[in-house]
Parts: sequence; C-alpha cells; structure tokens
Amino acid sequence: MPFARLALRMPLLALIHRSASCLIMCGAGLQSPGYARMIGTMNCTRCKTKAVLKLPRHNAAFCKDCFNSFVHDQVYKAIRSQEMFGKNDRILVAVSGGKDSLALWDILLKLGYKTDALYVNLGIGGYSESSQEKVVHFSKTVAAGYGAVLHIHTVEREGGAGIRELAMMVHRPTCSTCGTIKRYQFNRIAVEQGYDVMATGHNLDDEAARLLGNVLHWQNEYLEKQGPSLPASVDGFAKKVKPLYRLAERELAAYCVLNGIDYVVEECPMAQGARTLLYKEVLNRLETESPGTKQMFYWGFLEKSRTTEMPTNIMEKDRSTLHPCSLCGQPTTAETCSYCKLMARANTSTAG
Ligand code: SF4
Ligand code: ZN
Repeated sequence: MPFARLALRMPLLALIHRSASCLIMCGAGLQSPGYARMIGTMNCTRCKTKAVLKLPRHNAAFCKDCFNSFVHDQVYKAIRSQEMFGKNDRILVAVSGGKDSLALWDILLKLGYKTDALYVNLGIGGYSESSQEKVVHFSKTVAAGYGAVLHIHTVEREGGAGIRELAMMVHRPTCSTCGTIKRYQFNRIAVEQGYDVMATGHNLDDEAARLLGNVLHWQNEYLEKQGPSLPASVDGFAKKVKPLYRLAERELAAYCVLNGIDYVVEECPMAQGARTLLYKEVLNRLETESPGTKQMFYWGFLEKSRTTEMPTNIMEKDRSTLHPCSLCGQPTTAETCSYCKLMARANTSTAG
C-alpha cells in the first residue's frame, strides 16, 4: 500500500512505532500505554488546537503546523548558532533513504537553502534497492520542484563489488569499510562539484550516543571533532555540518510521517549488534526517567567546547598533519589515503 494511504489509515503514533529504529528511540514517553490516550486530550502549546505529538523534553505538545514550525526553527537555530552556511552557499546533503537525511533535505529546501543531495548505493541487496527507491522518489516528487539535483554513486560500479564483499576482500569489518568509502566519496563529490558545505542527517540521539561512547573510552581525538560544524581545514576537505543536532530521532520520524515523506524503515542489516545501539538504549532509559537528559548531555558538551575554541585547534592540527594522498590527492596523514589503500588491497585480493 502506498505510504500516503497507509498514513491516512494508521494513527501517527502507530506509524512511528512501525519503524525498526523506534525500539531505540522511544525514550520520552511515547511507549507508555497511557500515552495515546493522553495525547488525545491535549492541546497544542502554541495555537491551542488539538495536539498530535507531545515533546516531554520541551514540556510541550504540538499540532501538525506548529510542530513543523518548531522543527524548522530548531534547524534554523542550529545553522545560525554554529555558522554552518548562508543562503548563497551550495549545500550537498548525504542522503541514505532513512528518515533523518530525507527530513533534512526537505527542511533545508523549505527554509530556502540551495540544497542538492548525494546517495551512495552500498550494494547491500534489497536494503540498498529499497533505500535508493525512496531517495529517487523524494527527489522526483519533492526536491525537483525546488530545482534540486540528486547525485548517485554506486560502490559496485567503481569498486567492482558491494560493501560486504569489499570488506571480506580486505579482511575488515563491513561498517569500517563502509565508513571509509562513504566519507571518501561524500568529500570527493562535494569538492569536485564545488559545494560550499556537506550536510549529514545526524540527530541529537546519534550525537549523544557517540559522545557517550567517546567519553567512556576517553577518545580525546574524536571528542575534538564531535561538534556539529567542522571547518574545511585544508584544501581538498569540504566543510561538514550536522543541522539536525537539536532534534531527536522520534521528532524526525514524526516529521516524516506528518509530511508524507516515505523513508526506508528497516535499519541497514549490518547495523545489528552495533555498540551505538546499546548507547542509544541506555540514553533512552535515562531520557524516560528524566526528559531532556540527551539534550543536556550533548548541548552541555558543545557549550564547554565552545569556550575552549576547538575549531581553531582542529584547523591548526589538520594543517600541520595533512597533505595530499600520492594517488588521489585527498588530504591524508599517510603517504596514501585509507580509501586508496583499501581499494589497492581489494584489487590485489581479486587478482589473487
Ligand atoms: Fe554502512 Fe554499517 Fe551503517 Fe550499514 S550499518 S550503512 S554498513 S556503516
Ligand atoms: Zn587517495
């Protein structure tokens, strides 16, 4: 059944709960049995009409229109406060077919930013097929109306195999191989096509979970780069931003459902057992007990980072350690970058 018709038949909350990721995202009261009854009697905090969604961390409830304004305001605040980009900049959004990145593309277009998108097809069977379908559908039905362009990069076409096969060839975990390839291709295409900035759909839950992991292991180097805006520190690096860092996963799922954005509901099959999911679960429990915990944790970290002037440190450090890869020219700390090394190992393995 097409998504829009399905959405009309099912209550909003039930639809959000169909998402596989809702198992890890409903930390703010959405799962409680009394929740649906409670929201049925609540009015929008702003306009006093019937509310469709309650946001405990903001102690508020919203109707559809006021919720959309709230989401757009949060993204606009993120862009302005972190000096991410302006109305004349060209932005490239990395889209996966999931709720966050498609919501981000939608929001930036509606806010009037010149935003194109890049989808990287990882070659993970049915999952990649259906996620590409969702991206192409959104591109044709929504983004094209704003004159926005969708770029598609297919890993199999360039690497000769999908991400799982490549990982096996180089004897590395699939997600680490995937990370290397995606980072490389996003940066390459952003730089080659002359975009001013590259945006990703990381949300508050993603960033809080990542921060928890980095703090638990005291990974100072990663902590330095956990801000939502990383400068283009050297030639060959695109500026990278995360305009959704003020919004929670369930808020973005709700945004997609309310606005008829059809996204791929299944998680990537390779995500099973990922440590990040455990961190999200732990944070969701804390959030249920004490709404606003994730926000306090991540925003508090950003506030402390701001006073220590991390961006300058990153710029200085990158400039003193990075130089062009001898094979492809992208910035790297070694003689050849990790992508070129990975591809060389995959080619050797195929030849052998
Ligand atoms: Fe890539 Fe792993 Fe994420 Fe799947 S779960 S998209 S393989 S990093
Ligand atoms: Zn290289």
